Amino acid sequence: MKNEKTLVMIKPDGIQRSLMGEIIKRFERVGLKMVAAKMIVPTTEQIEKHYTLDPEWRRVTGEKTIKGYKDKGLEPPSEDPLEITAIILKNLKNYMSSGPVLAMIWQGVHSVKIVRKLVGGTEPFTSDVGTIRGDYVIDSYQLSDQDNRSIRNLVHASGSVEEANMEIEHWFKPEEIIDYRVVQEQVLYDPTVSGK
Ligand code: GDP
Ligand code: MG
Repeated sequence: MKNEKTLVMIKPDGIQRSLMGEIIKRFERVGLKMVAAKMIVPTTEQIEKHYTLDPEWRRVTGEKTIKGYKDKGLEPPSEDPLEITAIILKNLKNYMSSGPVLAMIWQGVHSVKIVRKLVGGTEPFTSDVGTIRGDYVIDSYQLSDQDNRSIRNLVHASGSVEEANMEIEHWFKPEEIIDYRVVQEQVLYDPTVSGK
């Protein structure tokens, strides 16, 4: 449990906006530990695989997007979830392979959910103030759909432990993940530390 790992990727817009330090700082200061990192320019094949590691992703994301349009009283571009996801995936491949990204693994108790909480909701326009997506960027689905591109939301973070395990295997070799201790782990996790 204390070793739960999650995959985080600072997307090309995060790198171009010089926000690597700000983003990393938020994970560090909460007490998570970085156990792997590398900067790469992903291929479109790597991006397609990343988003479709979960065989349900195309259907679920398509359905979610259609519901998003309808909730706002808007007509979705298609009623077919897979047609919607094909457009989303095409745009994601362009966006995510447009320049370097920083792939990282962050470790610590509840790391998957803690990181998602710090990252905030997918759409920066509606993500909470205090989250990375809420604090550092202003993009909306309305604007990105109008311009036929991906939403620019600075960072990817795994949505579940299962997703994290698949994504870590996709982006990192086991020998790239470093097993080490930092002194603060004793204060965070050691049951014998009483504070006396
Ligand atoms: P995340 O885990 O918060 O990044 O969100 P998801 O895994 O649900 O979606 C992955 C990506 O699909 C997002 O980063 C967006 O680029 C895209 N996406 C998801 N939902 C929508 C939507 O409702 N509309 C549009 N245009 N794109 C979406
Ligand atoms: Mg996701």
